[in-house]
Amino acid sequence: MIERIKELRRQASPLEPDAAWRSQMQNQVMGYADRFLADLPGMPAFFAQAPHDAPQSGFSIAEAATPLDQLLAWLAPNVDRQRLMLGHAGNLSFIPESGLHVAALADYLASISNKYAGVYFAAPGAIRVERSLLRWMAGLVGYPDGASGDLTSGGSIANLVGIVTARDAHRLKADQFAKTVVYLSAQTHHSAAKALRIAGLGEAVQRHVPLDEFHRMDVPSLMAAIEQDRAAGLNPWLIIATAGTTDTGAVDPLEQIAHVAKSNDLWLHVDGAYGAPFVLCPPGKQLMAGLERSDSLIMDPHKSLFMPLGLGAVLVRDVYKLRDAHYYDAGYLQDRDSLGDPAQISPADLSPELTRPFRGLRLWMSLKLLGVGPFRAALEEKMLLARYAHRRLSELDRFEVGVEPDLSIVTFRYIPERGDVEAFNRLLLKAIQDDGRIYISSTQIDGRFTLRLAILGFRTHLETVDLALSLLAEKARLVADTI
Ligand SMILES: *Cc1c(COP(=O)(O)O)cnc(C)c1O
Repeated sequence: MIERIKELRRQASPLEPDAAWRSQMQNQVMGYADRFLADLPGMPAFFAQAPHDAPQSGFSIAEAATPLDQLLAWLAPNVDRQRLMLGHAGNLSFIPESGLHVAALADYLASISNKYAGVYFAAPGAIRVERSLLRWMAGLVGYPDGASGDLTSGGSIANLVGIVTARDAHRLKADQFAKTVVYLSAQTHHSAAKALRIAGLGEAVQRHVPLDEFHRMDVPSLMAAIEQDRAAGLNPWLIIATAGTTDTGAVDPLEQIAHVAKSNDLWLHVDGAYGAPFVLCPPGKQLMAGLERSDSLIMDPHKSLFMPLGLGAVLVRDVYKLRDAHYYDAGYLQDRDSLGDPAQISPADLSPELTRPFRGLRLWMSLKLLGVGPFRAALEEKMLLARYAHRRLSELDRFEVGVEPDLSIVTFRYIPERGDVEAFNRLLLKAIQDDGRIYISSTQIDGRFTLRLAILGFRTHLETVDLALSLLAEKARLVADTI
């Protein structure tokens, strides 16, 4: 048996590369990453051409090992350099995500030390890093000292955690679900409805409050709906407001909605996945007035704080409500620190997760290394770029623009001299996408096919917006000539 153990160790030895091998691999990987970043500006924002049909053998796992240079050479065309290039300056589609370089370096360190960021006693420093990030966010939005939350993998999970907390804080029981009412709008992100279903509340009444002309939740309609539902014997429970809708970037009137929530004893959850980080800059802060009066909220650092994908956050005004909805114990966890000290609440007590990565290091290191100022400036820059694009588009012939943007998304469509508006705009979208230098997406607003420019990447500046505007004008002329 001893011989077999030794033989197995020898076979497993590639799992523990020596210093020379590690350093060689590091150099290769860093070289690859540097080339990627150097080439990115010259790449299309979107590779319009369908990726070539790479043989399955490259993807499949085989017994034999593959050399690193071969792997990296394969990765470039088959994974990295195809379709949507998220960090590209010209990516103006959906909610444009872009990952800071320093955050990627921090991710490397977090994976190397592999701190167990689920439970306080195992990694107190890592958890204090995350807690101070949450405290920073809570301070930004104006939450009181008793607020905290959890760093999640993204906004959808953060919405789920917020909704489950609201459910338990109001002691909703299954036999009441069908009479329970949630107030949201047609512009509420679909992850809220998904979270309600996952939380067992699929049968709850979802009241879609009408929107005003700015695509914001209409408060008089909200009040009327609550009153009617009460009179009908239903149980109004939760308002889901949005600080920055995905389609148009509209910020619901949070101050007034908070007043309605408070006076009716409803839980107010604010989805600020995209918009909430804008509180960092003065014009954003002004728009978000009332956010501090919500009971829970979410924000996505992997959107508006330029983190690589995989970082969301949920904040709850009263962290004990979050804990009550998620706390569990298990015999084999008995060695962890007692719960008596609130400073020692573990992330696992506040989320559906137990084992989880040290996902906060990327944001903490980025903020520490660069300071908050660059983030504040970048967000205000995006807001101004959107206003600029809105004004310039409205000056272009035959472009019909939506309302002035609250945050950093501009909606518009081209009104052709003749023919079907939607068909024309589909062709225009396709022409832009085929060109590839910028990439925009479309949506339906009030049942109308609408184009949008979403400005959020940290690499997106004035010259990209100017390029987008001139491409739109040029392609619109070309499309008009073909029909
Ligand atoms: C992106 C987004 C979500 C979902 O967040 P994920 O991180 O994609 O899970 C929720 N709400 C809004 C408003 C969003 O823009």
